[in-house]
Amino acid sequence: MPILNNYALDRWVQADTGLVAIPSALDGSIVAETSSQGLDFAAMLRHARVVGGPALRAMTFHERARLLKGLAEAITARKEELYALAVHTGATRTDNWIDIEGGAGTLFAYASKGRRELPNARLLIDGDTEVLSKRGGFIGQHVYTPLQGAAVHINAFNFPVWGMLEKLAPTLLAGVPAIVKPGTATAYVTKAAFRIMIDTGLLPPGALQLIVGATGDLFEHLTGQDVVSFTGSAQTAAKLQNHPAIAREGVRFVAERDSLNAAILGPDATPDSPEFALFVKEVVREMTVKAGQKCTAIRRALVPASLIDEVQAALKTALSKVVVGDPASESVTMGALVGTTQLADVRAKIALLSQEARIVHGDGGPVAGADERGAFIAPVLLRTDDPDKAELLHEVEAFGPVATLMPYRDLAHAAALANRGKGSLALSIVTHDPSVATELLLGLGSFHGRIHILNRDCARESTGHGSPLPVLVHGGPGRAGGGEEMGGIRGVKHYMQRTALQGSPDMLSVVTGTWLTGASRQEGEVHPFRLRFGELSIGYTKVTAARTITLEDIEHFAHFTGDTFYAHMDEEAARASPIFGGRVAHGYLILSFAAGLFVDPAPGPVLANYGLEGLRFIKPVKPGDSIQAALTAKEKTAKTPEMGEVRWNVAVTNQAGELVATYDLLTMNAV
Ligand code: NAP
Repeated sequence: MPILNNYALDRWVQADTGLVAIPSALDGSIVAETSSQGLDFAAMLRHARVVGGPALRAMTFHERARLLKGLAEAITARKEELYALAVHTGATRTDNWIDIEGGAGTLFAYASKGRRELPNARLLIDGDTEVLSKRGGFIGQHVYTPLQGAAVHINAFNFPVWGMLEKLAPTLLAGVPAIVKPGTATAYVTKAAFRIMIDTGLLPPGALQLIVGATGDLFEHLTGQDVVSFTGSAQTAAKLQNHPAIAREGVRFVAERDSLNAAILGPDATPDSPEFALFVKEVVREMTVKAGQKCTAIRRALVPASLIDEVQAALKTALSKVVVGDPASESVTMGALVGTTQLADVRAKIALLSQEARIVHGDGGPVAGADERGAFIAPVLLRTDDPDKAELLHEVEAFGPVATLMPYRDLAHAAALANRGKGSLALSIVTHDPSVATELLLGLGSFHGRIHILNRDCARESTGHGSPLPVLVHGGPGRAGGGEEMGGIRGVKHYMQRTALQGSPDMLSVVTGTWLTGASRQEGEVHPFRLRFGELSIGYTKVTAARTITLEDIEHFAHFTGDTFYAHMDEEAARASPIFGGRVAHGYLILSFAAGLFVDPAPGPVLANYGLEGLRFIKPVKPGDSIQAALTAKEKTAKTPEMGEVRWNVAVTNQAGELVATYDLLTMNAV
């Protein structure tokens, strides 16, 4: 019998005592044994902080992004090893695709976002500079730096690979080492994926550790630089969150808990509408993918009272086509629950729900033809006609293929019922009527972490009700845990500290590696476009000659571009305008003339201009005004061995020295 090793202090460690057997979901045979007894949890945390953290923090965001890509490639290359093991979790190949390739996809997504959206630096600037004094000699700038502790990831059993990787991607990108503790029931799959990552040799020492089993006294040793990111039931979350060390040390605790997610069928959806069919399909899919063991699964299906019988009939027809059994069989469309303990729990929850609703499809009993030693159960649909009176239906999560159908009177009632779940991860509104979606959104938005508006226009491309995505927030308020994961780069920041820096513009420019408003500009003999990426220093500036803008220039530009907006061409109308008080130059003319003033034309290190950001036209430019530009190297980001991105600040001023336009210009420069 394989014994799952822990990975502590950069070594595989096997525990020989306190072993717990992990049974297969299919026939109860023992797949592996595991224990974490004997691990020195304090030493693991220390190792993460003292060895892993400094090594990760020495890397830039881009280096860490490349590390994620390497890990994702390794998992993809060896995915079949994971599929082979994951069969024992009871999941179908499609379910495991979500877990395994969805997990690798999340790493890939963060690898790419890290390279595109984060600087090739070790510090992250957040937002604009705030000028804090009259003369601009004292400024404020928010920055993010990585926490210097460890991230403790406690995961649920249902997604043994994705569950680990969706947390690791932002954590490692932030520069924080992690200690992973998977749900025991499927820890053999997590451990195999973990091993693939260690085998790459890409991870610096101390960056990752694994506990397969109980966490012992780990929580006793947490500090305010550590983060606990928990996924699992509300009950366990409450227990862990109440550990004295969490409050005493001010430890960040991110909780992703269960939730009573709902789907609402809009009143516009008649039985022959595409939305009616989409609703039925989505509810059935959510009940059966992963045999309903999904934190985002639809547990409550809310439909207009007038349609409940038709929806029930359609759901029953669709559910009767679900084939439950060994996922290895091609005809099977839904596998088993993770184990017989989970099966007993789901049956107990169905019994509880049955106190307030009647079962209209399935019975929760043994499945004909399926191995009775396995954890098989067919989908169970319940129905209540009085959802207002119900308590348990809005509170009890049966973590299996179980949902309850309930009627609503009007949209306010639908929103109120959805909100009875006290906060959910995901909610679907199935409607083709924007006014229905708008009214519901205003009535229930703040109770739900993600809202999926489904209709005929997006159905073919929709990623579905139940799929958390790396670019969108995963998490929900209240009952769902109040946590937030992923959501693009925002998820990375959960493992960093936001600090408000104050000081002189010059000092803050140097420490942030970015030219900030008010900092000195250095002018030199050489035009900045003649300097290669490596030669250009932050703050290097070209102040151009001035150019006077004439009425002829404005008219020529208007006719040439076709932009004959009254403010440029109609003196009387422009004079009557509350903004212009007479004819003014086009904003685009100012930009074009500014480029004409600062561009050095011959081929050289500047390969291309590829965009402007933060463009603001601050003051109108009138005929006869003259403009001048200052082009300052603001930030440099190496992109490839051959090229790097230069962000330039461009400040366009008039003859009185007043700012008329400002923006960031992005160029790609040869190294
Ligand atoms: P669980 O029983 O609450 O366990 C979650 C994790 O906590 C497991 O790793 C578990 O380890 C660990 N754990 C339990 N007691 C602990 C303790 N005293 N100290 C340290 N760790 C402890 O939940 P589950 O059965 O694995 O997962 C199903 C639940 O998770 C469902 O309610 C589901 O809705 C929820 N879930 C939520 C999300 C989300 O993103 N919001 C995602 C998936 C699942 P052991 O396995 O070793 O007990």
